[in-house]
Amino acid sequence: MICRSEGAHSRAYFPEAFPAFKPEQARDSDYSMPLSIQQARAVGELLCTTTTDVLWAPSRNRIHQVRPGATLACRVGSGQATYHRHDQRDQVHRITYGLRMVMAKYQSQTAAGWLSSREIIRFRYFDGILSPRNLLAHTCVHEFAHLLQQVAGQRRHGSVHNQEFYRILHELHADGSADAVKEALGMAADRLGLSLPETAFVVPEPTDMRARWRVGDAVSFGSRSRVHSGTVQKVNSKTCTVTVSQGKQGLRYRVPFALLRREGHTTLDPITLNPITLK
Ligand SMILES: [Zn+2]
Repeated sequence: MICRSEGAHSRAYFPEAFPAFKPEQARDSDYSMPLSIQQARAVGELLCTTTTDVLWAPSRNRIHQVRPGATLACRVGSGQATYHRHDQRDQVHRITYGLRMVMAKYQSQTAAGWLSSREIIRFRYFDGILSPRNLLAHTCVHEFAHLLQQVAGQRRHGSVHNQEFYRILHELHADGSADAVKEALGMAADRLGLSLPETAFVVPEPTDMRARWRVGDAVSFGSRSRVHSGTVQKVNSKTCTVTVSQGKQGLRYRVPFALLRREGHTTLDPITLNPITLK
């Protein structure tokens, strides 16, 4: 059984929280803290050892009372997929932390689409502050909560993020486990010279975001499977009205600023707002 909570791609499941933006698409206005692949892998390894030492080790005896012989194996995956999987035959709990998931949580735009961001905000975990350190500490806790949920026999098909899961997750935050994970991650990152900022992401004000768009801007939006390209017709308070030409007709969409991507050129001079002739 695999937890698809963290935006993993799969044939059988529609991703629940697939990020709207990929790190390489991030714009310079995204308040980003870029991370190299090597650094992301090192941070991923840190998530593995911390999950094993800080979450698994203290619970092992309790888990063995219910499931004798259960073991944990953590690894860093090459993509975004982040999940807990349990193998009934060999009693191994496997937790995978995706390299691209780690990178995504260093940037406000890419972090926003993940379930861990929504949980931190909704349940006020870590005072509701979104930072790379909080997001990654919470990711360890989230996956370990799935492990405990499985041990308790509360993981059922089609009912992954259920009441029992959230009861366990709340408890891990309430009993200090989540804080211990965060502290261990921070100390290890410092020791290894890895960046793991506690700085809260600055979410752009709607007014700042509004100022970035002009009538006539060439934009695109949508997921990779279905991208729409069009022109900004009107800049509203929180959205742009975008005309997408389709055959002879134009379809209009109201698109939130955060979901708009700028295309290669703009049809208005940003300073004079005069139309530019495109060649
Ligand atoms: Zn999950």
